[in-house]
Amino acid sequence: MTLESDHSLVNPSQPLTLTCHQCGAVYLRPELEPDQWAQCIRCHSVLESYAAFTPNAWLAIILTAFISLFFANIYPVATLYVQGQGQAATFFDAVSVVWKEGYQEVAIVTFAAGFLLPVFQLGLLFSVMLPLSLGRLPAYFEWAIKMIDHLKPWCMVPVFLVGILVSVVKLAGLASLVAGVGLFATACAAIFITSMGRLDAHRLRLMALDLGVPAQLPTLPKPPSPAQIKQVWALLLAAVILYIPANLLPIMKITSVGGTSAHTILGGVIELFQMGSWDIALVVLVASVLVPVFKLVALSVLLALTQFGAMRGLRRRTQIYRVVEFIGQWSMLDVFVVILLSALGQFGALLRIEPGSGAVAFGAVVILTMLAALSFDPRLAWRRAGYRRQVSSPFNI
Ligand SMILES: [Zn+2]
Repeated sequence: MTLESDHSLVNPSQPLTLTCHQCGAVYLRPELEPDQWAQCIRCHSVLESYAAFTPNAWLAIILTAFISLFFANIYPVATLYVQGQGQAATFFDAVSVVWKEGYQEVAIVTFAAGFLLPVFQLGLLFSVMLPLSLGRLPAYFEWAIKMIDHLKPWCMVPVFLVGILVSVVKLAGLASLVAGVGLFATACAAIFITSMGRLDAHRLRLMALDLGVPAQLPTLPKPPSPAQIKQVWALLLAAVILYIPANLLPIMKITSVGGTSAHTILGGVIELFQMGSWDIALVVLVASVLVPVFKLVALSVLLALTQFGAMRGLRRRTQIYRVVEFIGQWSMLDVFVVILLSALGQFGALLRIEPGSGAVAFGAVVILTMLAALSFDPRLAWRRAGYRRQVSSPFNI
């Protein structure tokens, strides 16, 4: 149920206020019952939902995620068999193969997004949740919850999981492949990490306050700076330029007894269709072609409308921005697939799979569009259209 509240008052000096990060409206925090959530009247974003889990329950989830991630990384995700020879690959094998092939930047990004940042994120959540469960506030609370928000978009274990599944299907045509313990552990880690997605700075602060722990009250965020417009344009332009080599250059090369073949992103999708795996082809088409194009077009339109102070469709524009923000990391899928295939396809003259320079360009496009989406503050669109911090009446849009 929605709480389209009469709590629209809006006095910034009141304690416990909820600020809508999408449009900048400020509300007095309502009391929520189970299954209720508070929704912004102006842009319809969810401001807060009823917290069903206690810090102890979260601690159990965080620990399970840690253990899953540990097994996900020490056991092979799959073993590929070619003419009786087996090649097993763990996550670290994949990173080290790509490093040795000369694609250090791709290896670093994969290591960070698939292991280092998720582990750091889990460690931060644990170090905040443990004192909270004991009714204490850690001294580094403010720093930690900010960091948790910054890290969240860059922790890509769920994307890596889908990457493994796509690799399995791609290789099924070439050789026989057996899924390993690492795959199941990655699936568990992905589920637990996804469930932790809602633990952001805002929720952790409210959780601390609800527990009676003396955390700082939520403060009003600074107004959005118009300087971001130039920065987002620059990031988008760089992404558009790199999108050309990302599509024209091969993202991987496969050398087998039959010769060498180079594969571009679109070529890979067509090949999957021809193999009969239209479902996986569709996943790759959506993640690697439609999502990046949608992100580039949608962000450019949102930015241009914001720049000119357009007043129309503000609520719809805010929803589109939320979609762009949500799908950001999923375009990394093809990069992870290339890395995994390179780690598995190491059979000398029989079969060898190497990453191509298209994968570097494509990875850069994904990172640049994610940075562009994160640098864009949707509140600026509302502000430029004349909506200030305070809501005067609930349905004046
Ligand atoms: Zn709002």
